[in-house]
Amino acid sequence: MTTPPPDFQFDPIFDPGDDLTARVRRVRDGETTVSLRLESMLTAVDSANPSLNAFHEVLADSARATAASIDARLAAGDDPGPLAGSVIAVKDNFCTTEGHTTCGSRMLENYRSPFDATAITRLRDAGATLVGKTNMDEFAMGSSSEHCAWGPVRNPHGINRVPGGSSGGSAAAVAAGISDAAVGSDTGGSIRQPAAFCGCVGFKPTYGRISRYGLVAFGSSLDQIGPLARSVRDAATIYEAMAGIDPNDATTSDLTVEPSLLDGPFDPSSLRVGIPREHCTNRNHPGVSERLEQTIDALRAAGATIVDIDLPLTDHGISTYYVIAPAEASSNLSRYDGIRYGYRADPRPGESLETLYARTRSEGFGPEVQRRIMLGTYVLSAGYYDAYYKRALQVRRLIKHEFDAAFTKCDVLLGPTSPHPAFQIGAELDLLSMYLNDVYTVNANIAGIPAISIPGGMVEEDGETLPMGIHLQTPAFCEKSLFRIASTVESMLRSD
Ligand code: GLN
Repeated sequence: MTTPPPDFQFDPIFDPGDDLTARVRRVRDGETTVSLRLESMLTAVDSANPSLNAFHEVLADSARATAASIDARLAAGDDPGPLAGSVIAVKDNFCTTEGHTTCGSRMLENYRSPFDATAITRLRDAGATLVGKTNMDEFAMGSSSEHCAWGPVRNPHGINRVPGGSSGGSAAAVAAGISDAAVGSDTGGSIRQPAAFCGCVGFKPTYGRISRYGLVAFGSSLDQIGPLARSVRDAATIYEAMAGIDPNDATTSDLTVEPSLLDGPFDPSSLRVGIPREHCTNRNHPGVSERLEQTIDALRAAGATIVDIDLPLTDHGISTYYVIAPAEASSNLSRYDGIRYGYRADPRPGESLETLYARTRSEGFGPEVQRRIMLGTYVLSAGYYDAYYKRALQVRRLIKHEFDAAFTKCDVLLGPTSPHPAFQIGAELDLLSMYLNDVYTVNANIAGIPAISIPGGMVEEDGETLPMGIHLQTPAFCEKSLFRIASTVESMLRSD
C-alpha cells in the first residue's frame, strides 16, 4: 500500500484550553466569527480529506449559510444556543435534509432524506454549524471503517492505520482538527472504540436518552447516538443538546436531562472505582495494560477506593451481541430491496421479482453486511430461534444483572476501551479478532448503560506512537455522574 503524503497538521494531544467550549466562547466574546472559523475549517478539510477520507460529503454551502445566520443573530444580541460558533461533523447514517445520507453503502448512494433526524434538528436548534457527512463502515457494521463503499478512512495518528469504526470518519475528523466535534452512533462500541483509536472523547448515553428518529437503524435495541469530541465538557454539552424525550421515538425516556458539569468534577477520594478483572487480561497490548495501571495508580494516589470486580460474562457479550445485532439488522435491512428503497440492479427481460431482489441486494450491499444479514436470518429461523436468538436474550438479561450487582460495590467501572491501539489498514484481521475489538464495549449496549472513552495516553507499536482509551461505565441514567467522574480522570491524565 502506498503512503499518502502527510499534508496536514494536527494536534496530537489536544490543548485543554482549546476545546469546542472555549472556541464557542471566543465567538461569543467577539474575538472571531462563525464564518471565519468555518472558512479556516473548510480549508483544513480540503487539505486533509484527500489523505484521511474522513468526509464523504462536505456541506460547504449550507454550512456557510448557517454560519452567516448565526453571526447575524449574535451581532443582533440574540442567543443562538450553546453550540453557536461550533462546527460539527455528522456520521453519514443520520438523516439530513442537506446532502446525501448513504450509510457508507452503495445501496443508499443516491439517497437524500426529506427530513432531519431529531438529533440533527436539536443540534441546529442549539446553534451548531453542520460541516459535512463522515465516512463509516457500511450500515455501521465494523470496527475499522475499512468496510465503507467510499474507501477506507485513515487515522491521523498513523496514516496507514485504521481510525476504528464504525464512526471512523467522525473520529478522524475530530482528531485531525477538521471539525470541532462530531456525532456518531454506537451499537456495540462504534463511538467509543474509534474515539480511543484517534485520541478523542467518545460518549454513548443510556438507551433511550437520545432519540433514534432519523438514525438509519442497525440493531434497534442497541443503537444509541452520541458525541465524539476534544474534551469531556464538549461531549457533555453536545449530549445535553441532543438528549430528551421525543414523540417520534417511543423508546425515549422522559427523565430530566440534568446539566452534567455544573457541579464540577468529583473529588477522587469520594469515588469507588471498580476494575473488572476480565478487562485486565493478557489479551491487552502491553502498552494498553501499562497505561491502565498508571491510571489506576493515579486514582489510588488521589484517594479513590479501588475495588476489584468480577464480570465473568464479559466474553459472552461478544457472542450475545453477534446474535442479537445481526438478527435485528436482518429485519431492519429487509426494506432495502430496490423496489421500496435503495439501489436497484438493472432489471433483465423475463426476470422474476425474486431474482431482481437477490441481484439488487448482492450488488447493493458489501460482504460484511451480507454476512450479517445471513447470520441474522439464520438465528431467527424457525429451527434455530430458541437455540440462538432466545438464548442470547437470556444471556443479555444475565449481563444486565451482572452490571447491577457490580454497581452495588462501586460508582464507576474503569478499564481499557479496546485491547489494543489502532491496527494497520488491511491487516486482514480474521473475523473473530475483528469482532473482539468490542469485547469491552458491547456489554454497555447489551445492558443499555452509559459509557465514555477518554484519551488514556499514548502507547508505542512498531515505531509509531498511538492513542489508547480509558473506558468508564455507570448505571443507567447516571450520565451526570459519568461526566463528572470522566472529567476528574481526564484532568488527572492531562496533568500526568
Ligand atoms: N464493531 C461492532 C460491529 O461491527 C459495533 C458496531 C457499532 O457499534 N455500530 O457491529
